[in-house]
Amino acid sequence: MTLQETDTALVTGASSGIGEATVRALCAKGVQVIAAARRIDRLDVLAADTGCIPFELDVRDRDAVSAIEHDHDIDILINNAGLGRAMGSLATADVRDIERTIDTNVTSLIHLTRAVLPGMIERKRGHIVNMSSTAAVHAGPTALYGASKAAVHKFCRDLRNELSGSGVRVSEINPGRVSTEFYEVAIDDEERRAKAQDTGITVLHPDDVAASIIHMVDAPWHVNISQLEIVPQEQIYGGYHFAAIS
Ligand code: NDP
Repeated sequence: MTLQETDTALVTGASSGIGEATVRALCAKGVQVIAAARRIDRLDVLAADTGCIPFELDVRDRDAVSAIEHDHDIDILINNAGLGRAMGSLATADVRDIERTIDTNVTSLIHLTRAVLPGMIERKRGHIVNMSSTAAVHAGPTALYGASKAAVHKFCRDLRNELSGSGVRVSEINPGRVSTEFYEVAIDDEERRAKAQDTGITVLHPDDVAASIIHMVDAPWHVNISQLEIVPQEQIYGGYHFAAIS
């Protein structure tokens, strides 16, 4: 399956940041894209720009998710919707934020995968790309978020084994810091948020990550890019410390 032979790609979290950039990049390649998120007004604007199909979806809505394959043969699923809450403060975390983070980043991602897999396996073609993070594999001060992305990391690796020989590819992408609305959602306190956003380095643009996703889905069919880590040139691992060349 090449990108040109792709029937439809579904991108979750398409209303901003990495998801929106990925919709734009896929549409530019001529792929039919279903752009899913809760903020339908934003998706309508994106649709007018790119020709994507706007789809109002809360990925935590199990019924809506399980109905997804009925209308389209989805060949590519970009499981991108996600968030971080209780960043750096598990001891004071609101219990609802724990549920929301794990449910959005892990459980919903698994349900979405479950919804599209039977069709992909039947057609012997498909590609699941799961949005992970450097936080999945490198230690940082974000235990809850890191645990959610570590679950995605293990899910990707085991799913790839499970689907061996089925014609379905599985990829994980692990970005470092990207300039998106992530921290607007993650941290309510303005001062803490500003501190978290003030890296002092040139961080990734969502288009940088989208280009890597295109590289994964456009790879020759015998190739499975299993994991791709993309970080700002100046970012180092661990504890959100950043080292710039002076
Ligand atoms: P944004 O906040 O800009 O985008 C998050 C997207 O997820 C939005 O489109 C939002 O749409 C969607 N979303 C959140 N919850 C739901 C839900 N319940 N149902 C449907 N859609 C939902 O952040 P990013 O672009 O940065 O985040 C995208 C992914 O990248 C996330 O998985 C994040 O963990 C990951 N990531 C981000 C990094 C960064 O530094 N920014 C680094 C590494 C990974 P809406 O609110 O309209 O529903």
